[in-house]
Amino acid sequence: MVLDTATLRIAFGLMALALVVLFYFSAYRVTRSPYSGWWCVALVFFLAGSGCFLLNGTPHQVWANPLGNAVLVYGAVAVWAGARSLRTAPPPKWAFTGIPLVTLVASVLDHPATNTWSGGAVFLAAMSATIGLASHELWRLEPGYSRVRIPMAVAAGGLSVFYLFRWVAFLLDGQDGPVFVTVFGSAVTTMVTMVMLVVVSFSMAALSSEQQTRALRVVATRDDLTGLLNRKAFLDLAAEQLADRAITRGSGALILADLDHFKTVNDTYGHAAGDFALKAFADACVATVRSTDLTGRYGGEEFVILVPGASAERAEAIAEEISRRLADAAAPGGLELPTASYGISVYDAGTSSVDRLIASADAALYRAKSLGRNRAARSDEML
Ligand code: GH3
Ligand code: MG
Ligand code: MG
Repeated sequence: MVLDTATLRIAFGLMALALVVLFYFSAYRVTRSPYSGWWCVALVFFLAGSGCFLLNGTPHQVWANPLGNAVLVYGAVAVWAGARSLRTAPPPKWAFTGIPLVTLVASVLDHPATNTWSGGAVFLAAMSATIGLASHELWRLEPGYSRVRIPMAVAAGGLSVFYLFRWVAFLLDGQDGPVFVTVFGSAVTTMVTMVMLVVVSFSMAALSSEQQTRALRVVATRDDLTGLLNRKAFLDLAAEQLADRAITRGSGALILADLDHFKTVNDTYGHAAGDFALKAFADACVATVRSTDLTGRYGGEEFVILVPGASAERAEAIAEEISRRLADAAAPGGLELPTASYGISVYDAGTSSVDRLIASADAALYRAKSLGRNRAARSDEML
């Protein structure tokens, strides 16, 4: 049985169109997640690209064939960009212009008026590489990212390998060779791609709602000016850590920080400069502590850090390091960044109250202020 490629392409086009419409309304409009946006773009490009190939055999083939190749490669780049968006990495610019452009040029130079496989070797290699990159992106997401991470990575990886075999068959067997035509030709590819699109669209709907949930969780736990944990998230996580002796290794320290004469910064340089100083301080904290320590904006110009395993001396060294980084930070237009005062409280294995730790650090902070600011003071209590 010989399957008619043109008929298959029309069926493919109708299916892709139905998927775009369904996907746009059921996933993208609801979640607005970048991933589902990219997938809509990819589907539209796949639809347009295979639409171009319907003009093969007509006088329009001379432009439609190279354009179809480039647009299909664009679709694959969009799949890759979508996979990158899952870890909020922007797509590299060269991929967007470079890969489709090279495909287009190779195709235009390869007698597109008479050759339905103009630039075929470059096209197949570009498809395999780009979809392979998408698969790689999905693999490298953290294991807990999503239920559908692995099936999607495997689907993309399978398609990439299929294109790789097509490429090899194209080079060895030629575009009219029996192996290429029967096993890796347009009819088989159209069917394989159809199945893949359905599988991926289905998984994608699940993934885009997961991505939205993730974004909402970030909004709910982060302070939007500094990106640090907000007060509630800090308190919740600190209480969890204190309750879990295995993580805290028994003892640790809490640092409460307050910018000195911060009101003067606002009054002298304006509120935007004040915001800049808050961000600079937050950056200095993040650069100083370990990623496993908890750093939060406690309120206004007050910050709080939980350092499991740290002694009072270690906490003092951290405070000094933060102040040093803040003093070294570049500030725009004559703005003088403020100094900071710190109150430190320590706890041992018996402690489980974040409130008491904070109250104790706050008393020490008050002392640091009254001793002249720009310094750290320890609480004497071991909580
Ligand atoms: P001290 O050295 O005793 O801590 O003095 P201070 O001026 O830092 O303390 P005070 O509590 O008098 O002032 C805190 C100021 O922080 C007042 C408030 O307007 C400002 N502030 C609080 N939140 C923000 C913010 O998000 N952005 C800016 N720019 N200012 C803020
Ligand atoms: Mg204050
Ligand atoms: Mg202050």
